[in-house]
Amino acid sequence: MVSPTELRASDALDVLRRVFGYDAFRGFQQEIIDHVVAGGDALVLMPTGGGKSLCYQVPALVRDGVAVVVSPLIALMQDQVDALTAVGVRAGFLNSTQDYAARRTVEQAFVDGALDLLYLAPEALGTRGVQQLLDRGRIGLFAIDEAHCVSQWGHDFRPDYLALSMLHERWPTVPRIALTATATSATRAEIATRLQLTEARHFVASFDRPNIQYRIVPKKEPRKQLLALLRDEHPGDAGIVYCLSRASVDKTAEFLVANGVAALPYHAGLDSGTRAANQQRFLREDGLVMVATIAFGMGIDKPDVRFVAHLDLPKSVEGYYQETGRAGRDGLPSTAWLAYGLQDVVQQRKMIETSDGDLAHRRNLATHLDAMLALCETVRCRRVQLLEYFGQPGTADCGNCDTCLTPPETWDGTVAAQKLLSTVYRLDRERNQRFGAGHCVDILIGKQNDKISQYGHDALSTFGIGTELREAEWRGVVRQLLAEGLLAVEGDYGTLALTEASAEVLARRRTVTMRREPEKVASTRSAKPRGAATVVAELDPAAGSLFERLRAWRGATAKEQGVPAYVIFHDATLRQIATDSPTSLAELSRISGVGENKLAKYGESILTVLADQP
Ligand code: ADP
Ligand code: ZN
Repeated sequence: MVSPTELRASDALDVLRRVFGYDAFRGFQQEIIDHVVAGGDALVLMPTGGGKSLCYQVPALVRDGVAVVVSPLIALMQDQVDALTAVGVRAGFLNSTQDYAARRTVEQAFVDGALDLLYLAPEALGTRGVQQLLDRGRIGLFAIDEAHCVSQWGHDFRPDYLALSMLHERWPTVPRIALTATATSATRAEIATRLQLTEARHFVASFDRPNIQYRIVPKKEPRKQLLALLRDEHPGDAGIVYCLSRASVDKTAEFLVANGVAALPYHAGLDSGTRAANQQRFLREDGLVMVATIAFGMGIDKPDVRFVAHLDLPKSVEGYYQETGRAGRDGLPSTAWLAYGLQDVVQQRKMIETSDGDLAHRRNLATHLDAMLALCETVRCRRVQLLEYFGQPGTADCGNCDTCLTPPETWDGTVAAQKLLSTVYRLDRERNQRFGAGHCVDILIGKQNDKISQYGHDALSTFGIGTELREAEWRGVVRQLLAEGLLAVEGDYGTLALTEASAEVLARRRTVTMRREPEKVASTRSAKPRGAATVVAELDPAAGSLFERLRAWRGATAKEQGVPAYVIFHDATLRQIATDSPTSLAELSRISGVGENKLAKYGESILTVLADQP
């Protein structure tokens, strides 16, 4: 193990190389670390997988004193500490999951200055006991992870974060670094104000995740569509599937299992033991699919999540980007896939309409939903639109999203919009009735059914005037009008209603451009295996078989030590070992991801695996 005094004396780059085994800093890491090591406050906005952890872990080792890391992710603290221990860093945590003895050991280590990093939940910091403990040791730095949790308008608000402004009051000389992957300037301003980070330097990294392919497809039979995606493009890969409701999580997980996919459910309705066990298995085993509500995922730093699929529309672009960002932290190709349809828009608009909270709150929800809908309906490059939303305009079309790969066609939907809006207008006189989108479409295509005859709607002047479009296309028209605010949803039954803007279309003062509903969306990617399978496919046969043997060794070692496989080595590191096939410890030490501690611990075993000709 590298001795702490040796570490303290060394500079940041040296720590990066010797402890973490990496050659160079990425992006703003060096600037951030220099600033914090020198005692400055920092607010860091970096996408998931951008390398935020090192921004406080390296200063923790370079500065005197213990770095106190505030994180809401109690369930992941053990893994974070394990990953640090694996590279020889002295880390511990205090949270409600510990027994008294474990707690005492960590407290004592903190007071003795025998820790480099101490992880705490925000609620712990509010207690007198912990505050007094912190006064007895020497704090080198406060790191506030997932700092967007302080934002009241955000999607992960944690009231305990509001109290973190006291850090500054109680320990005014200790530098603070707040980090988040949520990037809008509004959130950034809110974090700075609420955490009293007024003097902090802001570091805003590019939010692009070039290895993630963004795709938003029309929702038809979502579970079947999902299964096709998994079979064609991600067989055997680890991934996350997000659903809106607990019931749909359970159904989807069952459906996948019945179809031979290794899937587990996760939602707040499961007891905490099952939740923890499923999360544990997802992190530790290779190739599991987690089907979850958004209760799952914050802080999950599994590097080889190959896809994130949404079966329901996320409520905001912030949420969507954070969730999809959990794919491909290791930089290898990954997929963000969303199935989206009319029912999503109706449901979410209805939810906002009937939600508790004041008008300002509902408006805030609607603004967020509108941005998400605009992303779904755009005919532009999805990535360009995402980056613009996060304040990064002017990037070129990416060539790695569905709209770049298969440019959607548009058509002049003004007349269709008028037909639909006049139908809604005619039904408006009977607005106490429940006439949703389906009924309007039936009228337009002239479909005879009980409800139509019961209300005599076949006598309406718009009955049967829309036969030029298929039913699915009409649903697309309704969806796009709802998305653009040219139509609204009212009441518990999702009755369609006109808006002020509808009048402009009806009066021909406004034209409406629509996205054509594709008959069938072809997969934009060849069906070659991805993920672990891709890694092997890209290597020559000899390296490929070496990689498999290294993986088997890693799996066994991880199991023995009770840690996730990636804590031992990442796929990228194993891949390079397999390619370079080093024959000495010195050669092995030059590979990215092999630091001094791991070299000492695993070097000989790896050389044995390499020398062991099967
Ligand atoms: P974030 O917290 O921003 O989501 P992480 O800190 O988990 O990202 O880093 C993402 C991945 O990139 C990790 O696997 C990490 O080890 C790796 N990484 C970070 N910085 C570097 C670097 N300078 N060189 C090589 N790998 C790095
Ligand atoms: Zn694109």
